[in-house]
Amino acid sequence: MCNLIQKSMQTAIHSYKQHPQLAHKTYDAIVIGSGIGGLGVAAILAKEGKRVLVLERHYTAGGFTHSFKRRGYEWDVGIHYLGEVHRPHTELANWFAYISDNQLQWAEMDEVYDKIIFGNEVFPFHKGRNNFITHLQALFPQPADKQAIEDYVELIYKITRDARLYFTEKALPGALSWAVGGFMRSKFMQLASQSTLKVLQSITQNPKLIGVLTGQFGDYGLTPSQSSFAIHAMVAKHFINGGSFPVGGCSKIAETIATVIAKAGGAVLTNAEVAQIMVSNGKATGVQLADGAVLQANIIISDAGILNTYTKLLLPDVQQTAKLNKQVTQVQPSMGHLGLYLGFKHTAQELNLGKANLWIYPENAYDHDANFARFLQNPDVAPIPLTFISFPSAKDPDWLNRYPGTATIDIITVAPYQWFEQWQNTRWKKRGQDYETYKENMTNRLLNILYQYEPQLKGKLDYHELSTPLTTQHFANYAHGELYGIDHNPQRFGLSFLRPQTPIKNLYLTGQDIASAGIGGALTGGILTASAILKQPVPNIIRKRVGEGRTA
Ligand SMILES: Cc1cc2nc3c(=O)[nH]c(=O)nc-3n(C[C@H](O)[C@H](O)[C@H](O)COP(=O)(O)OP(=O)(O)OC[C@H]3O[C@@H](n4cnc5c(N)ncnc54)[C@H](O)[C@@H]3O)c2cc1C
Repeated sequence: MCNLIQKSMQTAIHSYKQHPQLAHKTYDAIVIGSGIGGLGVAAILAKEGKRVLVLERHYTAGGFTHSFKRRGYEWDVGIHYLGEVHRPHTELANWFAYISDNQLQWAEMDEVYDKIIFGNEVFPFHKGRNNFITHLQALFPQPADKQAIEDYVELIYKITRDARLYFTEKALPGALSWAVGGFMRSKFMQLASQSTLKVLQSITQNPKLIGVLTGQFGDYGLTPSQSSFAIHAMVAKHFINGGSFPVGGCSKIAETIATVIAKAGGAVLTNAEVAQIMVSNGKATGVQLADGAVLQANIIISDAGILNTYTKLLLPDVQQTAKLNKQVTQVQPSMGHLGLYLGFKHTAQELNLGKANLWIYPENAYDHDANFARFLQNPDVAPIPLTFISFPSAKDPDWLNRYPGTATIDIITVAPYQWFEQWQNTRWKKRGQDYETYKENMTNRLLNILYQYEPQLKGKLDYHELSTPLTTQHFANYAHGELYGIDHNPQRFGLSFLRPQTPIKNLYLTGQDIASAGIGGALTGGILTASAILKQPVPNIIRKRVGEGRTA
């Protein structure tokens, strides 16, 4: 039985180059992009009996949930941990159970999921609301700080509760949204329209406490003065009950969900770049692939991001008629990143690697905005303002079955796309010596930080590779190598056009840009798009069916 499931999973994702005929079957819906938003909406429609074709331009499926392999190692790109999925019957756990036919398994991390580090000062985040509060209060024993920590946790819970109504409104049809939308958004917007810094300063005047509480800001890519408190709170609350990792690696996500899509007569095709969304009389009718093939369907859904969809996949006259140009000027692409992927010929246990992520900041520098500004101004000299270190092979209990005797580490820092523009017309792996020199320099700086905190690793590194925003542009098609789609600033949450329905009939958006970044956020996008298309609240359908044990 197990072998059968395994075999069907392996065959559910196909290359368009090898199986072009699969694109030309009749489908009810076409999804552009196989990120978790695209796969999520496709699986939900498949569960309702629809045949869905997912078209992915990369040679592998999954968007930022994809994995890649080099020289006997495997790394995941856009998942280091997820919250909520390991806890029985949380909404996110139910959603994943539903869209994967219960085939995804999650391995919980340890009690401490994140360590916020400033030089030698370490602030561990312990899982569980009360645990989180009491352990942090032990490190901030002043009465005012202790009270601020309690107030802070209360607030992140409050806005997350208010988020439910805010996001539900996005899936409502136009007339209903017009009538009740303002009311449904208003409570959430009270805090979402303020910056993280402003809200935290209303709770505490202690800059060190603010620096620690915002120590996960890399999870949404904007410093406290720039980010909306909504994204900060949703991320912090998402992880407060701990983190987990997919058993068998992140590629299991696309594999399992593609099987559900295929079961209903749909397909997930890689190497299938969409060049244009076909629109006739204000209505989307199909897509044209990069090789010229035209595929038709009644529903077209784009998971490729709002900027790609509106500025690259629609002809200029369509953009103008539908007034999309005005919409895109109101959103900004998020920051890029450097990703350093490391391989060791020792196990995580031999290397004494823990499961908790490290968020490393310069010593005594609690003001993330100031650290960041200094780095942008003088990148060669200023300290790196954020170094995130994750130990995926230690988190995945199946790792040693697949890659015996080895371990991997990921290191991430932020890097604006503008620094790489000079190489934007070069080709992957052939960008020239100056690019390689830049990468070598940044690799060494990041390795020095790693060795400062994990000195036992010195001399043991077997393989390393650094990605830049140009890598993200090349593989994920984000024009500015964006880390998290469009920026999560306070204005974003006030833009009511960030929703599944577009001004073009039968064309829908999905994924992180219509909800929020993160696997949970992007899947929320998928759920909203499915709700808008099916004209039913999909969370209720899932709750009912999972409750009845009907995931499969
Ligand atoms: C380095 C990094 C680390 C992260 N870490 C975490 C984490 O630990 N936990 C967490 O919850 N989240 C994390 N995230 C965020 C999370 O991965 C994303 O928010 C989420 O995966 C986005 O999903 P999506 O469906 O919106 O889009 P994407 O995953 O971006 O998928 C969009 C897909 O569309 C495809 N596409 C684009 N244009 C076309 C076209 N013309 N034709 C066909 N296909 C096209 C792209 O190739 C891509 O596969 C991380 C992200 C990054 C980059």
